[in-house]
Amino acid sequence: MRRAWESQLDNHDGAVADYIPELFKANPNCFGMAIATVKGKLFSVGDVTVPFTIQSVSKAFAFCLALEIAGPEMVASRVGVEPSGEAFNAIVFDPETNRPFNPMVNAGAIAVAGLLYEYLGDSAFDVLLERFSMAAGCDLALNEAVFRSEDETGHRNRAIAHLLLANEAIAVAPDKALDVYFRQCSIDVTALDLAWMGATFANMGTNPQTRHMAFDLAAVRSTLAVMFTCGMYDYAGHWAYDVGIPAKSGVGGGIVGVVNRQLGISTYSPRLDAKGNSVRGVGAFKALADDFGLHAFDCTNVGSSFITSLLR
Ligand code: GLN
Repeated sequence: MRRAWESQLDNHDGAVADYIPELFKANPNCFGMAIATVKGKLFSVGDVTVPFTIQSVSKAFAFCLALEIAGPEMVASRVGVEPSGEAFNAIVFDPETNRPFNPMVNAGAIAVAGLLYEYLGDSAFDVLLERFSMAAGCDLALNEAVFRSEDETGHRNRAIAHLLLANEAIAVAPDKALDVYFRQCSIDVTALDLAWMGATFANMGTNPQTRHMAFDLAAVRSTLAVMFTCGMYDYAGHWAYDVGIPAKSGVGGGIVGVVNRQLGISTYSPRLDAKGNSVRGVGAFKALADDFGLHAFDCTNVGSSFITSLLR
């Protein structure tokens, strides 16, 4: 893992997100990487205890929660599972259904947040935070400053929420859906937290250390499928080709990857490429996938003996 991390140390490409003003305060040089195993072991290198907001990485976990709470049919009536090939904040809907293409882009995630509010009312965010915390194995908290910053400047997301109401993809007031969405994106995590959250998905919804079940088994399967096809926005195809594991990125600079039944992997580095993915994160994941043979379709499986040793 250190080799994968070191391979990106001299990579200064990309820029810290500034469209949410508070995000621009991040230290551009921070860079951490962590691996948590389903056996409860943890490996890390670099800045793995620096907090940053989870941003779009939350979309995968919120979708998983919605599948459990509202049921797959209800969820399917509000949001698709098809890659959009568009930017994360694109204002596009499936022309056949008028629904967002998938829950990993903003439009779909706001529809999911609306569904959580519809079922859970004002406790929606608290329930979500509790489940995210169970997945991380520690108490996560809201970053108020980032929440306020996004709430004040998120006009594009406001527009999307109103279109969702017009399209009947949400059944609650747009402001209610947005409040859940902005808050879920503004949860502070560290690279260590994200690795455990990934390991919880890898471990069929149960945190490997605490043994608490954070997510429903069937919902995890569906979530990993959508992460695999849509998790890296309009880079998802390249990611599947080069790295080959389900993953989700966020504009805070985090990426979580899942090697099913084996590992949760995370990176944190806030400089982003034009598609909104962490530059060093993508580079480090590619290097790690090569070194460990992580790709789902890697027939040579060069890393399998190494991973087997990790999992003992
Ligand atoms: N909260 C961010 C937004 O809605 C999340 C985007 C992201 O991480 N890609 O713009």
